[in-house]
Parts: sequence; C-alpha cells; structure tokens
Amino acid sequence: ENVRLRPALEDLPVYVPGRPSADDGVPRFKISSNESSFPPVPAVREAVIDSLDAMYLYPDAAGLELRAALGEIHGVEPTQIALSNGSVSVTADLVRALVGEGDEVVFAWRSFEAYPLLVGGHGGTSVQVPLAASGEHDLEAMAAAITDRTRLVLLCTPNNPTGPSLSTEQVESFLVQVPDHVVVAIDEAYREFHDPATVLGTAGIFRRHGNVVLLRTFSKLQGLAGLRLGYAVAHPRLATALGQVAVPFAASSPAQAAALASLRPEVRAELDRRAEWVRSERSRVQRALGEQGWELPSSQGNFVYFPVGEDSPEFAAFCDARGLVLRAYGVEGVRATIAEQEANDLLIEIAGAWRRR
Ligand code: PMP
Repeated sequence: ENVRLRPALEDLPVYVPGRPSADDGVPRFKISSNESSFPPVPAVREAVIDSLDAMYLYPDAAGLELRAALGEIHGVEPTQIALSNGSVSVTADLVRALVGEGDEVVFAWRSFEAYPLLVGGHGGTSVQVPLAASGEHDLEAMAAAITDRTRLVLLCTPNNPTGPSLSTEQVESFLVQVPDHVVVAIDEAYREFHDPATVLGTAGIFRRHGNVVLLRTFSKLQGLAGLRLGYAVAHPRLATALGQVAVPFAASSPAQAAALASLRPEVRAELDRRAEWVRSERSRVQRALGEQGWELPSSQGNFVYFPVGEDSPEFAAFCDARGLVLRAYGVEGVRATIAEQEANDLLIEIAGAWRRR
C-alpha cells in the first residue's frame, strides 16, 4: 500500500468491458461488446488447433509470414506492418512511441473507451473534442484543438459507439490542416461492416500522407476477439518505433495462425458474406427502429447507438430484464451490437416496448 505509483494513475479509471450476463436464470444475448455472433470459420479453427503443437515454443516474434501477407494486402512492405495482441495494444504502443509526460493526444468524444486510459496511463493529456449532435466527428474543432504539444490524433471510423464514419474527402481535408510531425491514426476496427460504396480510401490517403497510421483488428468481423490480434500499417520509421516499444511476443502463435488463415481467399469470401449479412441486418434494425420513431445516428459499424441521454441506465436495465445485455455510456447513450437474427428481433421488440411504456 506504500508503493509509489505514478501520479498519472491517481484519477485514472479502470477499463470496464461490456459486462457478462447476470447469473439469474434469465436467458440473455450479450450484445455489449461488438463481438462476432458467428461461430469460428472451420478452416481458421483448424489452423489454431494445428498451431498448438508448437505451443511450447515462443511465437515468431517478428511475425514474418503474417506481416508479409498483410503487407501484400495493403500494398506496403512487411516492414510497414506492426503486430500486437489486439489493436488496443497497437494503440498503446503508438502512445508509448509518441507521447511523453504532458504531450497531448486529440480524439473525438465519445469514442473508444480505451483511448483516454491509454493516454492517461502513459502520462499524456487527452484532448477530447465533443462529437457533433449527429454522432459524427467534428473535424473542424479537432483541427483547431491541435497545439504545439499535440503528438497524436486518433480518428475512429466508423466511430465506436455512435456509428457514423468519415469519408475520404473529409479525412483528406482534415489531414492538410495537420502538421506533418503529428501522427494521425485512423482506427478502423469496424471497417468491414461499412457500406462498400462509401468506405474510406485508405490506400490513397496512406500514399499521400506519411504521418498517417492505419489501425486494424481481427477481433470484429474475423471473430478473433478472444485470441487477440491487431496491427498497424505505418511509415517504416514509425512501424520500427512501434516494434521498439512493443512487448516482445505479444502476438501469440495461435493468434498469428488464426489471422493468417483468415486471409485465405476462401475464408475471406465467407467473411465477406458475413459482413454483408450484418449490413443487411443493421439496415433492417435501423429501418424498424425508425418506424418506431427512434432517431439514431447513422451507423456503419456492427452496432447501433441509442442517444437516450439521462435515460441510459434505465433503458439498459429495461433491455437487460428482457434478455438483452447492452452497453450504457453514462447518461449519454446505449450501444447494441447487431448479432444473430433472434437477438436483433428482440432488440426491435424491446426498443418498441420502451417507446410505448
Ligand atoms: N478500436 C475500436 C474502435 C474498438 O471498438 C475496439 C474494440 N472494442 C478496438 C479498437 C480494440 O480491438 P482489439 O480487440 O483488436 O484490441
């Protein structure tokens, strides 16, 4: 109890994950963490099982095969890919590589819960720029928030938890306002759920702006949340810096094997079908909720957001009692993952009952 912790930890909350169902006999769908609702793809599961034969050995610390495969997909050198156990860890590496005591990190708020914890935990200062009323990033205000102390800007598209995404034009016109020594990380955890017609053109952005980093994860569409694998695509100097600060062997061999298997053409075809299904379910849910009179931000992720404000805890409890575990954000809103059809049907039913109550 007498240990001297860093002062930065004094007011730092602990990350609270989407909670599991209460153990009270009520059957529930846990739709609070934006996980995949599909079972593992058999070929990926088999690759993981095969990888276990080598579990007594350290994984390939350099992740050579996976980085080469990802480099090919992104049209960059393998040296421009940095791996870790989840994109949240890659984001932590980014903060460690860029942010010293008192340096600033600009991001929209609300956005991913982990951002202020990662920044605060490393002694940095979070500069949280309120979202517009539509749940979209206010890029003008974010550009204006950049100071001499800014080292990193985090853009989350589609934004967790509200759902809107950024267009290529929006990101390009934001980037021209950012000094090129400031890194702009684009967190695209939910990219694959995006309407294909309007998805961010990252390849062009990346070619034109050396200070841009892409953050990607295998946790969502690829369904590897429990195995943990995320990566960054960055300029070689920055990717090397991420390697310098990374915890060695963070990406385990089963995680690397699963990620590699997920990149096989036949598996990608199955994942594309799943993404398409999620998109159609998201439209169905949004349409049904719209007919009930709800006005929700337009989501491009595998989730929808109810901006119920003060009612958030009550709305979440109302859903919980009827079989849906959602994620409440203070007195701002509640997020629900688009999951299996039965859960989505129940969400529509309960949301309707809430409006009629
Ligand atoms: N970014 C965003 C926007 C997220 O919502 C999440 C997961 N909730 C992550 C990153 C972290 O993903 P990972 O499991 O790869 O750490």
